[in-house]
Amino acid sequence: MYDFVVVGVGPAGARFARRAAERGHDVLALEQGTIGTPLACSGHVSTDIWSVTGECAREELLQNEIHGARFHVGGPRSDAYPFYKREVASNVIDRVGLDRHLADLAREAGADVREHHSVTSVTERRDRVEVVASGPDGPTTFQAKMVAGCDGPRSRVRQELGLPEPDELLHGVLAFSEESDHEDFVDVHLTPPTFFAWRIPRGEAGVEYGLAAPPGVEVTKHFEELIDGYEIDVAHRCSGAIPIGPADRVTSRRGFLIGDAAAQTKPFTGGGILYGTTAADHAAREIDPERPTTLAAYEHAWREDLKRDQQLGHWLRRAYSLPEPIQRVGLSALSGEIGVHMDRPTSLVSPTHLKAMLSRLRP
Ligand SMILES: Cc1cc2nc3c(=O)[nH]c(=O)nc-3n(C[C@H](O)[C@H](O)[C@H](O)COP(=O)(O)OP(=O)(O)OC[C@H]3O[C@@H](n4cnc5c(N)ncnc54)[C@H](O)[C@@H]3O)c2cc1C
Repeated sequence: MYDFVVVGVGPAGARFARRAAERGHDVLALEQGTIGTPLACSGHVSTDIWSVTGECAREELLQNEIHGARFHVGGPRSDAYPFYKREVASNVIDRVGLDRHLADLAREAGADVREHHSVTSVTERRDRVEVVASGPDGPTTFQAKMVAGCDGPRSRVRQELGLPEPDELLHGVLAFSEESDHEDFVDVHLTPPTFFAWRIPRGEAGVEYGLAAPPGVEVTKHFEELIDGYEIDVAHRCSGAIPIGPADRVTSRRGFLIGDAAAQTKPFTGGGILYGTTAADHAAREIDPERPTTLAAYEHAWREDLKRDQQLGHWLRRAYSLPEPIQRVGLSALSGEIGVHMDRPTSLVSPTHLKAMLSRLRP
């Protein structure tokens, strides 16, 4: 009998497995495929990422440093409204490498991490959970005191536990060109309805072009328009789902969700690596596998930490759907130096940001 069976070894699952193992729990973590693949993520993160990695990670994973973003109401040739920081605002990292690195840290902490084990069913009993996984030796049933569903936006565990779905699932697409580009700005295009498209310079790893939008939007058509506008050839197309808007409940009797499975993402960018790992830390700290009542403490802790930023993030996203003339006026008025933390929109009212805004008034 394990203390925890963790389903899915992306950033959220690996982080929880590591933290729970460090606390002395017996942890089995099951990944359906090979860790880190297939890629469906830009790996554009705040510098806080290095607080969840181990030694030497920065040298191995960092691809580029970013100071700001140029917003465009139209395509590549439209006016640019730059928002920037004096210091490095964010990093572009090797996302496949990140997943492997975090999984290695979980193993080093004592978690039993197994690839090629696809979980097909989860049954909650009064005193345990039964998790069936299909692996190289056929189906196997594992027993645990609790199950952690860290299996991404289309979570099987969420479905098996009868937990509610996130509010929305966006469709994201990515492709890469081979030009090396060390520029320190990303470009953001507010052209697809209700979300955005982007261009991310990844240093020697090429340039990434991407787009996300809700169901019903012709994502491929908008993406082709973006690529045509930049006049480049792209390869390695990939796609994935982005959950927005966590449900009211992400815990059951002996199960809980972390990361994309729980829609712990930023509503205004879809980014979820740091919210997922943050929630994983709350889960490892609060949940005692012997006491299912501690699941309530996890629900409370992660929402307390991320709720205000997610609420403000929803409001920021609404600005993507404002009429174009209003977007232009707003971007023009607000662009320039900022002091906002990219994961924490509540830092719009921080002293750092206010100082940056006031510095623009100086002659
Ligand atoms: C196009 C796109 C671009 C993005 N760009 C960024 C970005 O720049 N920055 C950022 O912070 N976030 C970004 N995101 C979001 C980010 O990828 C997710 O928030 C993050 O991966 C969530 O981590 P996770 O561990 O919760 O889930 P995942 O990374 O999805 O990991 C879930 C794991 O569970 C495994 N799994 C699924 N089902 C099962 C099963 N039945 N049994 C066993 N294993 C299973 C999967 O194989 C996977 O490895 C992007 C997403 C998309 C789609």
